[in-house]
Amino acid sequence: MAPSRSPLNRPSIVAAMTELLGPHAVDTRDEQLKAASVDRFKKYTAVHGIYDGPVPAAIVYPSSTAEVAAVLRFAAENLVNVVPRTGRTATEGGLETVVEDSLVVDGSRMNKILSIDPVDMMATVQCGVGLQELEDILRAQGLTTGHSPQSKPLAQLGGLVATRSIGQFSTLYGGIEDLVVGLESVFPGGQVTRIKNVPRRAAGPDIRHIVIGSEGALCFITEVTVKLFRYQPENNRYFGFLVDEFSDGIDALRELITAGYRPSVCRVYSPEDARQHFAQLYEGKNVVVLVAEGPKGIADATAAAIEDLFAGRPHQRVDSRLIQQWFEGLNWGQDKIDAEQAAMLEHHHLGYTTEVSVDWSRVAGLFDAVMSRIRREFPRAGDLTMLGAHSSHSYQTGTNLYFVYDYTINSSPRDEIEVYHKPLNAIIVEEALRAGGSMVHHHGIGKYRTPWTQQEHGSAYYLLSTLKRAFDPQGVMNAGTIFPLEPRESTSSP
Ligand SMILES: Cc1cc2nc3c(=O)[nH]c(=O)nc-3n(C[C@H](O)[C@H](O)[C@H](O)COP(=O)(O)OP(=O)(O)OC[C@H]3O[C@@H](n4cnc5c(N)ncnc54)[C@H](O)[C@@H]3O)c2cc1C
Repeated sequence: MAPSRSPLNRPSIVAAMTELLGPHAVDTRDEQLKAASVDRFKKYTAVHGIYDGPVPAAIVYPSSTAEVAAVLRFAAENLVNVVPRTGRTATEGGLETVVEDSLVVDGSRMNKILSIDPVDMMATVQCGVGLQELEDILRAQGLTTGHSPQSKPLAQLGGLVATRSIGQFSTLYGGIEDLVVGLESVFPGGQVTRIKNVPRRAAGPDIRHIVIGSEGALCFITEVTVKLFRYQPENNRYFGFLVDEFSDGIDALRELITAGYRPSVCRVYSPEDARQHFAQLYEGKNVVVLVAEGPKGIADATAAAIEDLFAGRPHQRVDSRLIQQWFEGLNWGQDKIDAEQAAMLEHHHLGYTTEVSVDWSRVAGLFDAVMSRIRREFPRAGDLTMLGAHSSHSYQTGTNLYFVYDYTINSSPRDEIEVYHKPLNAIIVEEALRAGGSMVHHHGIGKYRTPWTQQEHGSAYYLLSTLKRAFDPQGVMNAGTIFPLEPRESTSSP
């Protein structure tokens, strides 16, 4: 956590916000401020009512780009830390207010769908539009964004772009970075920038990538334009296979992808992970899940390639209806979050994940290294009730590994993060970096992987840190996110 650098005290910050935005747009209720000081990285302490970090001075709800600009101008002039937020599903501490008297700037009231264009195949929305709402409207018109993260019922477009999110159909449609056409953002000091919508251009570096994945640490995203595709679920073909070894499943995915096929869903689950997803069918084996999607000719060709691939490999076939049913219940809305909270309180038990990526040739090695090192070195290994992984997003050169770990907490709730979550996360991050992979595939760095940001980027850290200095010279955007707090700012690590 860090002390405020602002010359203004809390009441003056709140008064200034009330004057700028009006009282209806400024929330200072105690419970709301406490909840706004954390995200799902601290879900266990939060459910016990423990909020150790600084609570923000206020949550403010701008309703236009001009209001966002006014707030960011005030923040830069008065050295007030700003934490942008939209759908509040962040998992890596990106929403934590580690600086005293921060302002949480919530874009969820900027929730207009500005245009849906079925000729140029793009939709423009404000940052607070929920992806589920947009998808429901698009699908009724035979269109889709192709973006389907598990948090789709809750996440909003601003946060989805800011975290560089990815969805379950990514092998066909890509991650959000492949879907964003153009953007509007506000930079510290109030500078409004619109990156125009064009199919492609060679007018210098692709500046969309300054904004995509910036996690609220460079700018506030106000508007997003995404690509659209035709929605043709009638052509979908679902496949499930059981295979003996995790590496057999990875090998099958590699064969399919590098041969040029693009199934929309492309996954392999280790037996431990498979047990919680497919209890009735996994039989102690690894589960491969594939979906062929798109225009009928392409879906059929992809389905035929999947059949051919497994005809030549030892496997057991899974009823495709079970795969489709599983898939339809995969997403998380508020109901599942509420149920998880009740279960955490009752059973002192919870699950977390750490997602990384690595080249094909090193996937099996990384999987084995993480599994064996956790079992060997993690002092509370006896409290683990599940340790497994799946690959869920594949590319020509490699794939991601999404490690999942559940444990029973035999410590005080306050100590859960230090005793369990941080050491487990650290082992996975260290092993991914050791294997030459990336320490973070799609959740963002947040505040808990910052000790490794420099190692992640190596000599290219120069580029990243120069962006921060150039665009946020006062250091008022989501301090402690992506970049570690400077030692002089920090009184203890987050
Ligand atoms: C159950 C569950 C399942 C998930 N599944 C997936 C998944 O399949 N794929 C995936 O990629 N992620 C997943 N996530 C992680 C999370 O949902 C995504 O990272 C999502 O993109 C966050 O969007 P949000 O609107 O909730 O953002 P928030 O949680 O509000 O914010 C996330 C980050 O973005 C910044 N931010 C938010 N809005 C803005 C803005 N307007 N301008 C600038 N910065 C902003 C915040 O400061 C923060 O750092 C999952 C999370 C949960 C809880």
